[in-house]
Parts: sequence; structure tokens; C-alpha cells
Amino acid sequence: MAAFEGLSSRLQNVFGKLKGKGKVSENDVKDAMREVRLALLEADVNFKVVKDFINKVKEKAIGQDVMESFTPGMVIIDIVNKELTSLMGETQSKLNKSNKPPTIIMMAGLQGAGKTTTTGKLAKYLQKQNHKPLLIAADIYRPAAIKQLQILGEQIDAPVFSLGDKANPVDIAKQGLQQAKENHNDYVIIDTAGRLHIDEELMNELKEIKETVKPDEVLLVVDSMTGQDAVNVAESFNEQLELTGVVLTKLDGDTRGGAALSVKAVTGKPIKFAAMGEKIDALEPFYPDRMASRILG
Ligand code: GDP
Repeated sequence: MAAFEGLSSRLQNVFGKLKGKGKVSENDVKDAMREVRLALLEADVNFKVVKDFINKVKEKAIGQDVMESFTPGMVIIDIVNKELTSLMGETQSKLNKSNKPPTIIMMAGLQGAGKTTTTGKLAKYLQKQNHKPLLIAADIYRPAAIKQLQILGEQIDAPVFSLGDKANPVDIAKQGLQQAKENHNDYVIIDTAGRLHIDEELMNELKEIKETVKPDEVLLVVDSMTGQDAVNVAESFNEQLELTGVVLTKLDGDTRGGAALSVKAVTGKPIKFAAMGEKIDALEPFYPDRMASRILG
């Protein structure tokens, strides 16, 4: 997999040097941390996130026990592994669930991030756990978004609620929810409109949908290939909409790592899922520890 390749190989290089040493001095640690800092910045990780990260690792690595251990290099790698895991949210963050079904999941994101595709993938993921999701097509602006969702629905045999592209998205969401209740669907996933850029109109519409249907989850879909932009987008959406989680898409591409490593630290919201391909089952829960191990190789 090409994702994080640059970051991975640079970190492996730095730690390869440390691993080979029987004794590690304070200067060795400082040199290594300088290289880690550069590698993270080059991977497009948020500047402040990098600074905090390096300080935390240094604080733990420059201690008596590490210096005097028999395998100081390994101890330092372990410290970095733990801090990377913590940076990405520590443990896997599960979907919220309503104790009065249906659980309502609202999907948000900029156009092209993979929102509609992810809506279909999430439905498939829920079906595999014996749930009965209903999809609501509330993206009335992007040409073909409704059709795309209907095709995805057919593919996985999940109902798709639509009122066409002339109805008001808030009404679509409301009526879709009603249908889900009547048909005993235990999950509802609302595909909302995206735009090429964040604008007030988009946010107002999303806020209105949110206030009307009171979702249990507001998931922002962001394209991991866009690095810091993805994080900025997440910050804006979070300020306006109060997200409950993030889905990172296109991790099958040669993404550098910035979005995966910064989004939780910057927004405080966990990455709940990772999408790794165009196929309907290319969606997995996001595990910070596995991702950290993958980055460190
Ligand atoms: P939306 O405008 O946010 O609804 O975006 P779409 O769901 O239409 O996705 C935009 C494009 O990205 C489509 O060509 C998708 O097939 C593609 N896409 C979505 N998720 C992924 C992913 O995880 N990996 C890859 N390689 N492509 C993806």
C-alpha cells in the first residue's frame, strides 16, 4: 500500500540508526527527534501537532531509564508508537447508537471527498452486522448524486428514500425518517449536499437538517489525499455542526499521512472509519494502534 510510504521509510531510517546503538545519548535522541519532526512536517502533519508530539516524545525518551536500558532504541520506538496511537485517538471509536431506533447518521463533506460512496459502504457495513439501514438521498445539488445512491442501494439491497431533486433537503430528511420508522429500519443514513468550498448556505442547510432530525452521529467524510486541507475542512465543519466523528477516505492512495495524524488532535473528534478503495466493502473501523504500527513499519 502506498499510503504513508514516505513517512514510513523516513521513520524507519531514523529508528534503524537508533536500534543499532547499544547506548543512546541525549544528543542522539535530539538528532532523531529533529529528523522525526521534519518527516512529520513533510507528511503534511499540522505544525502545532508536530511540536506537541515531539515535546511529548522527548520528555519521555530523555530519561534515565531509557538511556540505561539495554535496548534504548527499541524503548524509544515504543514511546513513539504509543504517542502516535494516542495522537490518532488511542482506541477504536465506535458508532453512537440510539436506544430508540432508528439510529440516525448524518453524512457531511465537500464534493468529491467520497461522501455518497461512503454512505453506501457504511450501509453495507451495518448490514453485515444484521442491521437494516435506510439511505436518504438529500444531496439534491450534485448532478447524479441521487442516482448514484440509488445504484449503491440496489447493489446492496438497501432501500433508498428520495423525493427527487426539487424537494427541500430538510423535508426529504424528515420524510425519509418517517418511512424508516414505518418500515422498522434500525439505521438511517442521510447523504447530504456537499459543495466545492465551504459556504454559509451549505452550512445553514446542514444545520437545519441536523436540528430537525437530531442525528446520533454527524460524520464528516474527508479525503485523506488533501492533507492539511482536510484538517481545515474538518475544523470548520466541527465549529458549525459539532461533528461526532470523521471518516477518512482514499487511504488506498499515496496519501502522506497529514490528515490521519492531525485531524483528531486539531478537532478533538475521532476518526471512526477508514475507506481504502472504491469498492462497496472497502470501509473499515479505524484502529489508531494498527495505523501507528503500519506507519512505523
Ligand atoms: P461525494 O461528492 O463526496 O459524494 O463523492 P463520491 O462518493 O462521488 O466520490 C468521489 C470519487 O472518489 C468517486 O470516484 C469514488 O469512487 C472515489 N472514492 C471514494 N472513496 C474512495 C476511496 O476510499 N478510495 C478511492 N480510491 N476512491 C474513493
